[in-house]
Order: sequence, then structure tokens, then C-alpha cells
Amino acid sequence: MDRIRCKDYNPNMAMSSQPKPNILFGKGEIEAAIKRLAAEISKDYHDKHPILIGVLKGSFMFMADLVRLLDFPLEVEFIRLSSYGRGRDSSGKINVVQGLRSSVKGRDVLVIEDIVDTGFTITFLLDYLRKKKPASLRLCTLTDKPSRRKVPVVIDYLAFTVPNKFIVGYGLDWDEKFRYLPDICTLEDAN
Ligand code: 5GP
Ligand code: MG
Repeated sequence: MDRIRCKDYNPNMAMSSQPKPNILFGKGEIEAAIKRLAAEISKDYHDKHPILIGVLKGSFMFMADLVRLLDFPLEVEFIRLSSYGRGRDSSGKINVVQGLRSSVKGRDVLVIEDIVDTGFTITFLLDYLRKKKPASLRLCTLTDKPSRRKVPVVIDYLAFTVPNKFIVGYGLDWDEKFRYLPDICTLEDAN
């Protein structure tokens, strides 16, 4: 696998414990996967005027690339949930930090997520949205890490299944680092 260089990784740092990103899926593979998802979503939603809800911050790049391939009327919303911080394990206690600006009642809603890991976060969000009585509610995620699942999750649209490693890049961060990388990477030696 390619080792990539970036602003957040200095290989010359003495006694460096900086984790190193390695490309798992490159730009070309990401483009192809998003094209495939856009075709599936277009087929299912072209006449539904859906609301796509991106889960901040991790989904921002995926959302941007996906919606620009969707050539039908839709709305874009974002929601922000409490997240991991520096650690890797979901506490299972999740809160809405920044809520929706528009009503989803009676609307066809598609949630755009960056990664489904244990499944706690997305289960919380889908339950939260279901209570608002949308006409339909589905999940589209950039990545799925099924090896870590603690609660069952139905994924309607999936770009990539990833191994049991910490993933960064293409919107996903480690302590706010590596989010800007254009590739989906694994993070080696992360503390
Ligand atoms: P879950 O509740 O499914 O365990 O975790 C979901 C959230 O945790 C994701 O939306 C993401 O913010 C974060 N997360 C889980 N696994 C990873 C990972 O491998 N890399 C990054 N950057 N975030 C992760
Ligand atoms: Mg997320």
C-alpha cells in the first residue's frame, strides 16, 4: 500500500509517535463508487424531492461529491452529533449538537454518513429522525466496518466495506487531523 505524505505527518520528527496514513481506497476508486451510488440513488429518488441529511463533520466531502452527481430536485441538510473526540470507542451516549433547520415530516429522508462502526451513532440518529415522522428513511454510508458492529444496522447504499482499522481522509479525521486527504486511508500506529 502507498504511504502518503501530508501536512499532518512529519516522518523526520524525532521520536515521532505520529500515526501514518496509508491509502486504502484512492481517488479513482472513490469516484467510481460514488458514481455507482449516485446512479442507484437517482433511480430511487428522482421523483421524490428528498432531503439528504449529512452527518457532520465526517460526511462533508462525500456529501459534496455525491450531490453534484444527482441531477434532480433535492434538499441538503446537516446534523451534528457528539462524537469520539480523541478516543476510538463510541461511548454509546450520543447527543444532537446541531439540529436540523427544516422539517422532515412527510419527506423522503436519506441520511449520509461517513462510517458505521459499532452502529450506536447511526441507530441513535435513525431513531431520532423516525420520531419526526418522515415518509421514508434510508441510510447511505461511505464506509462500513462490520467487524466492529455492536447493534444491527441496515445500510441501503454503501460505497466501501473497510477492515477493522482506524480510517481517516476524505472527510474522516483523527483528532481533527487528516480530514482533507483526498483518499480513504488507514491510520497505522495511532495511539
Ligand atoms: P459508531 O457509533 O458506529 O461506533 O461510530 C460512528 C462514528 O464514530 C462515525 O460517524 C465516526 O464519526 C466515528 N468513527 C468510527 N470509526 C471510525 C474510524 O475508523 N475513523 C474515524 N475517523 N471515525 C470513526
Ligand atoms: Mg459520522
